[in-house]
Amino acid sequence: SIVDRLGAARTGRIPFSVEFSPPRDADAEARLWRAVRTFERLGPAFVSMTYGAGGSTRDRTVRVTGDLAEETTLLPVAHLTAVGHSIDEIRAMVGAYADRGITNILALRGDPPGNPLGEWEKHPDGLEHADELVRLVRDLGDFHVGVASFPEGHHRSPDLDHDTRYLVRKLRAGAEYSITQMFFDVEHYLRLRDRVEACDPEQAAKPIIPEIMPITSLRSARRSLELSGSKLPPSLEERLVRAAGDGPEEDRAAVREVGIEVATEMCERLIAEGAPCLHFITLNFARATSEVLTRLGIEVRSTVPAGQPV
Ligand code: FAD
Repeated sequence: SIVDRLGAARTGRIPFSVEFSPPRDADAEARLWRAVRTFERLGPAFVSMTYGAGGSTRDRTVRVTGDLAEETTLLPVAHLTAVGHSIDEIRAMVGAYADRGITNILALRGDPPGNPLGEWEKHPDGLEHADELVRLVRDLGDFHVGVASFPEGHHRSPDLDHDTRYLVRKLRAGAEYSITQMFFDVEHYLRLRDRVEACDPEQAAKPIIPEIMPITSLRSARRSLELSGSKLPPSLEERLVRAAGDGPEEDRAAVREVGIEVATEMCERLIAEGAPCLHFITLNFARATSEVLTRLGIEVRSTVPAGQPV
């Protein structure tokens, strides 16, 4: 399981992990595999595969995640969302993952398709909250389940205490760890950790894995931020805007340099604060993440025999 891997790594360098998303077409799939082969050499503790809103890319997601389990040295975690699915459909999805040897599931409620910030509507035969999905998946077999956590609070939570209570409820339901929403101020992560500790010290022993997005484009970062509910600290926003310049196209190289520098600084602080792992959003590219790892001086472990193409 993920937790075993993080525990085993505790004595050496900090473990890292990466998030992929299901490719939309054959070209995107080829690109994903290039990133996969590069990461295989870098030795992540696990790799996670997101689930298209409402299951829109369901079949491809199961196939590609299964291929990761069967054809690589990586340990895949399948994200699974409850939105738009009946309980029977969710059971079938979990079964399809199990058939491909996937036993690590990140249990999520998901957002309303079309408008993530719109009105939430439960499927008539489905689930209301992620804690129910945690219980369902665990009842279906020998699965290791993780959940989402929100350093700045989930956008539907009235306040941070409410948010923390329901995160703890998901952990009590049997989730073994959480992965956070991306954030750009490490204080948010540290305060989340403090809140969980104050709410339930036993559950606080479970890893809270920080998610890091190295920004490589201001435009796409703004879009991700809008969907995630996370905020850029004003000083960072200013730096990025300055780097982007005022030409018709943003200066991608300059934005990328700031993004990678900031991600590296955040990781340094997270390591110093004892984070259990660094989880990177990759958008199916390996370069930005491997550059951050290199700058951190994280020694990479080669799991691919020399001479094999990557
Ligand atoms: P929940 O835990 O159900 O929380 C939703 C809201 O309800 C929160 O405000 C919470 O405080 C409250 N709440 C929770 N339980 C209860 C309860 N029992 N009673 C009352 N209130 C409750 N989306 C995708 O579509 N695909 C993905 O692959 C994906 N991956 C993600 C990965 C990570 C690491 C993160 C952080 C998010 C991801 N998301 C993904 C987005 C996620 O689906 C949304 O943020 C969604 O709005 C919330 O999901 P959740 O599992 O946290 O829901």
